[in-house]
Amino acid sequence: MREGGLEAPFRRPLDWENPDFYDEAKLDAEMRRVLDICHGCRRCFNLCDSFPRLFDLVDESATMEVDGVQPSDF
Ligand code: SF4
Repeated sequence: MREGGLEAPFRRPLDWENPDFYDEAKLDAEMRRVLDICHGCRRCFNLCDSFPRLFDLVDESATMEVDGVQPSDF
């Protein structure tokens, strides 16, 4: 992947027919993986409406990290 390219964006297909797609434990692990990366990166915090909520959830969690956010809050 190259930053700043002029090529048309590539859309990755969702593997929604895979049973793993509906596995709540795997969904939780993937949400935590992605949000932990975004919480550390914050590059697009002013473009993505998820950030105010993510920061609030992290601040309110017992660990003050993404791992302390309750699955129901995702
Ligand atoms: S650029 Fe945005 S979406 Fe990508 S990892 Fe950083 S915060 Fe997350």
